[in-house]
Amino acid sequence: MRFYELRAPKESKYTGNLSARHKWGGLPGLRCPECKATWAGSMTAYPSVDLSSLPERSEYEKPRAESFDEFVRLRELVRPLVPPGAQLLPGAMFGPLVGTATGTFSPLFFYYLEMPLVHHQALEQLQAEGVRSPRGFPERPPPCPKCGRDAFRFPENPILDATSLPENTDLFRLSDFESIFIATERFVEAVRRLGLDELDIREVPVR
Ligand SMILES: [Zn+2]
Repeated sequence: MRFYELRAPKESKYTGNLSARHKWGGLPGLRCPECKATWAGSMTAYPSVDLSSLPERSEYEKPRAESFDEFVRLRELVRPLVPPGAQLLPGAMFGPLVGTATGTFSPLFFYYLEMPLVHHQALEQLQAEGVRSPRGFPERPPPCPKCGRDAFRFPENPILDATSLPENTDLFRLSDFESIFIATERFVEAVRRLGLDELDIREVPVR
């Protein structure tokens, strides 16, 4: 199986503009006592997560930086609500998008890194093609052992670590670079067959 990085094209014929946020907000940023960084780098949203049963839900509304212990408390409160093994970095968002969209949108609209959008019809087409809907690089400094912050920059010529690739999905983010979308050959072939635009697609080697 080959793998491909997906990006929004530099120029687009679509005018889509989104003014929306995730219904429940998200995890705050944190101040790490170990590496001294204050950060919130997550690009991941969990649209299916519903915080309405959580008495502490108002604590996820306001973006801010918290102490490490307070961040961990808030993170562990939502842990049972996300899929097993899901990554919960500072800034991870919860709930469906709520807001307004104006202009035109391509079937696969990846302009907002934290909000990749797929037309409902395009998703159904991809699923009908057998696409299953929704890491790793050599030689790099380890992330902070306490907060997990990773200062490593995405390489020009990345190589995917074959042992780290998920087997049950055809589209995913890299857990160590959440701004990078990777699709399988099955996904890319279905996109091309269906004529869904608009994505820049480049193959990424695996070893
Ligand atoms: Zn740290």
